[in-house]
Amino acid sequence: VIPLAEAQSHVVGRVKPLPPAECDISRAAGLVVAEAVVAREAVPPFTNSAMDGYAVRAADTEGATEEIPARLFVAGEVAAGDVPAGDVPPAGAVRIMTGAPIPPGADAVVMVERTRPDGDHVLVNTAAERGDHIRSAGDDVRPGDEVATLGEQLSPARLALLVSVGCATVACHPRPRVGVLSTGDELVDPGRALGPGQIRDSNRPMLLAIVEASGFAAVDLGHVGDDEAALVEHLEGAVGQCDAVITSGGVSVGAYDVVRNLLERVGDVRWMQIAIKPAKPFLFGFLHGLPVFGLPGNPVSSAVSFELLARPALRRMAGHPDDALHSPRRQAVTDVDLPRHSDGKTHFVRVVVAEGDDGRLHVRRPAGGQGSHQLSGLAHATALAVVPDGDGPTAGEELEVIVL
Ligand code: AMP
Ligand code: MG
Repeated sequence: VIPLAEAQSHVVGRVKPLPPAECDISRAAGLVVAEAVVAREAVPPFTNSAMDGYAVRAADTEGATEEIPARLFVAGEVAAGDVPAGDVPPAGAVRIMTGAPIPPGADAVVMVERTRPDGDHVLVNTAAERGDHIRSAGDDVRPGDEVATLGEQLSPARLALLVSVGCATVACHPRPRVGVLSTGDELVDPGRALGPGQIRDSNRPMLLAIVEASGFAAVDLGHVGDDEAALVEHLEGAVGQCDAVITSGGVSVGAYDVVRNLLERVGDVRWMQIAIKPAKPFLFGFLHGLPVFGLPGNPVSSAVSFELLARPALRRMAGHPDDALHSPRRQAVTDVDLPRHSDGKTHFVRVVVAEGDDGRLHVRRPAGGQGSHQLSGLAHATALAVVPDGDGPTAGEELEVIVL
């Protein structure tokens, strides 16, 4: 039995980031940037109006008020997308729309709300200052600015920024394609009637959903019985189609734990027993170069095992930096006793947490039954409380939690 940290560093250490590729910018949200991006263009690309109004020479409006407005000749109009037809002459103005280029000669924009039309003139009832409502070329981004950093995950706003400086593609690590395969003779697909001794394959939809929610691309590989030939066929079918495979079931010490039996024989794998509860057995390694994560079959164990071991490694494959692989742990205070017995393991207790009025995160209660088969507790949980070996924390004590 090995400590969790050892298992985590083993798994994370054996995978590599997927080779970067140029990705279409419109499909790059959520991907990790493989090369810093430096702007070659300014944003805005030209000096333009921040308001609908009139482009003027500020000096021409000096002293203008509601009672004694400045009267300026309207020399033309410029809309967004137009090129100004001419200068703003002295004592003149050009009607201008938001986003339109500032015509030569103008050094301020007066918002339309501070003006009144007067035939072919306009009455301006405020004194403009130079630069009023003008957005200068490059006031957002200047050529040479770094607009995306190596290792960052592309947010929608970051995508828009890259588009604004003219990027059509961006060098990113591809989204890992993660196959999910259930194993067990007892499993039936969701929606089917149960025969004697059968249960529904709840792990597969759960893991497919967790994979997607983690930002990876899920590939449904179906389920196989406890049959080595079928398992080999499914796993080999995934080579080329997936960047990694997650199996559930068959990695324990039972007579029909075929995932372990098979992969220990034909794969390059390590079977582990980890000092945690739930999710003690775990297997990781390669079959024909394909990373395989063998999660235990009990549903809660599967979910916890994914959280602690598979996701960090898959995040590494997705290009996330080493300090951003593991789920963050937060300090919390428990409102209730969380008793346990010493067994040499760290327990990951399914709990309900809430922000307290004291600004601290509180563990309110266990989320339900703590058996590794009891999905209702997991479904109610908003966090995993990390309970180290010992008698468990009592009400008022601090502990770490992983918010789900
Ligand atoms: P195993 O790890 O194969 O020994 O399975 C441990 C427990 O998890 C058994 O009670 C299985 O029936 C159950 N189990 C295995 N696979 C699944 C699955 N895909 N969905 C729900 N329960 C499962
Ligand atoms: Mg099984």
